[in-house]
Amino acid sequence: MEILLKDQKIYCEIIKRKRKTMEIQVQADGSLRVLTPKGLGKERIQKALKEKENWILKKVLEINHRDTPETRIFQEGEGHYGFGHIKPLCFIKVPGARKLQVRLGAEGFILQGEDFSQESIRKSLEEWYRSQTEKRAAFFVKKYRNTLPRPSQVQVKTQKKRWGSCNHKGKVMFNWKLSMAPAWVLEYLVVHELCHIEEFNHSKNFWTLVKRTYPRSEEARKWLRENQWKLQQFE
Ligand SMILES: [Zn+2]
Repeated sequence: MEILLKDQKIYCEIIKRKRKTMEIQVQADGSLRVLTPKGLGKERIQKALKEKENWILKKVLEINHRDTPETRIFQEGEGHYGFGHIKPLCFIKVPGARKLQVRLGAEGFILQGEDFSQESIRKSLEEWYRSQTEKRAAFFVKKYRNTLPRPSQVQVKTQKKRWGSCNHKGKVMFNWKLSMAPAWVLEYLVVHELCHIEEFNHSKNFWTLVKRTYPRSEEARKWLRENQWKLQQFE
């Protein structure tokens, strides 16, 4: 659900648990994760969030300030997007390693190797994003192989202004930066492009097909609209 705190719309994921008290967590992307007792209704949750709005807005502000576009310097501890969450870069020195190995762990992006120059870090991260986007896109294409038309080819590439595209030959293309977004947003993009193979336009039929296939489509579009600038800061 969404809540309005002093004119600012904030997305909250409500998780009902067997518990007595409510817990509010501010996520790395500025959204909230609220753990609540099972019987608590929407209104009471909203009221509780309102009561804590100063604290919540302060935390959200801190997060938004941490990633202004100009500050990508690829140094240890800097936050980078991985599947919708900002994770810090962690460096592990391995003498003699030919190139940096990247993996995303719970604690952050772990980079292992010897060359921690900005260029080497940027390049290794980009490679990681590309391979993750490729893997996930392939996974979702496969997931819909019996419900949507199959593409002639799937490609991950650099696209300045678009997240995905589809051509007349049924080739679908995805922006490599999509693995910065949550996986459910990437899934929406895959559904969107595959639907274009059948409906090569943005007609009413097209949107009906997209939304019927993927119920979170509206939510994903909204996420992309609101977070687009964050995903594009990595150059
Ligand atoms: Zn489209």
